[in-house]
Amino acid sequence: MTDITLAPIQPDQPSHLMATYGRQAISFVRGRGAYLYTEDGTEYLDALTGIAVCGLGHAHPVIAEAIAEQAATLVHTSNLFEIPWQTAAAQKLAEVSGMEEIFFSNSGAESNEGAIKIARKFGTQQGVRLPKIIVAEQSFHGRTLATLSATGNKKVQDGFAPLLNDFIRVPFGDVHAIQEAALQHPDIVAILIEPIQGEGGINTAPQGFSYLEEVRNICNQHNWLMMLDEIQTGNGRTGKYFAYQHTNIVPDVLTTAKGLGNGFPVGAVMTQGKAVGLLGPGSHGSTYGGTVLGSRVVYTVIDTIQKENAVENAAVVGRYIVDQLRAQLADKNVQVRGFGMMIGIQLPKDCAELVAIARDQHKLIINVTAGSVVRLLPPINMTQAQADDLLEHLVALINNYL
Ligand SMILES: *Cc1c(COP(=O)(O)O)cnc(C)c1O
Repeated sequence: MTDITLAPIQPDQPSHLMATYGRQAISFVRGRGAYLYTEDGTEYLDALTGIAVCGLGHAHPVIAEAIAEQAATLVHTSNLFEIPWQTAAAQKLAEVSGMEEIFFSNSGAESNEGAIKIARKFGTQQGVRLPKIIVAEQSFHGRTLATLSATGNKKVQDGFAPLLNDFIRVPFGDVHAIQEAALQHPDIVAILIEPIQGEGGINTAPQGFSYLEEVRNICNQHNWLMMLDEIQTGNGRTGKYFAYQHTNIVPDVLTTAKGLGNGFPVGAVMTQGKAVGLLGPGSHGSTYGGTVLGSRVVYTVIDTIQKENAVENAAVVGRYIVDQLRAQLADKNVQVRGFGMMIGIQLPKDCAELVAIARDQHKLIINVTAGSVVRLLPPINMTQAQADDLLEHLVALINNYL
């Protein structure tokens, strides 16, 4: 093993890191399942899992072993060669998603870039010169130029003009606004939405998942691609493998990333139906996409999610957390929303400081998004006992705060 010991971080000392993140002054050196540990051994219950990434918990032994064994065997050869683990990972992902073709990338934004390119190719083939894509207000699709242009958050876009002008924005959950846009813009070729908006505040559509069915109908009517961004909602997070599986529809294009590698950086863009075959040889690529190691991780993560019945667990334990929060906070002015292990507690006021209070007083890791929404993204295989522990601390935290 390594004999390098890192000096502890001194918060006042200048660092060479670009200051793109507002970091908390704490670091974790070890994790196990739903828990994180600091150097001195203090244990924290993790209801954030690296922002919906480590769905199976930290340092999962099966995944750790797959990574170690593959790293010691063969990490990367390039897509100039056949990669049996990539073929097997695609087979698994097709099985759980119902999609047909899969392209592996390294991140959420890169997956959405792939989707946007597919939409443009689709439009071009229809003879649309400047294809447009409908996106939602409060959406988040990533930080690259195309995906930040698609994102419905001014803070993400500020100072990065010129943005792409491909996108037409409608309120999330508003089908009428989509119909209106269709009348005004004959050059629309696709719609890109999140089934539940994550960064935007765990926003569910007012009509629930039937919004997706309504969008599917409109896409069929106008011959648009229905593209779902399941970077955050995918991989069991909402109590189905993919959130659209709460309905009977299938999108034409599907993107995912976060939970796909349980912390190993991987992503995927998937197609079925009329989106199949749009990207052919030479039209897209990614050096690191679907490496031997990354592909083995994807395969192992999906296999482990299946063997542990983690998706069913997310549905049952997530439902329990939501029900308990609604019951125990019934006398407070809060709204609890979400599905599975993707839960938001809308508070009546901004509450960013709850992150530090939860961490320091309750040894609990949570996130606050959209100013006033406590966001919970616990491991999808969290046990009932851990959920009870989480609830006890959360209810006390919010009761004390309001
Ligand atoms: C996190 C996220 C992205 C961006 O993923 P990166 O891996 O950070 O590029 C895109 N869409 C949604 C819905 C996300 O939650």
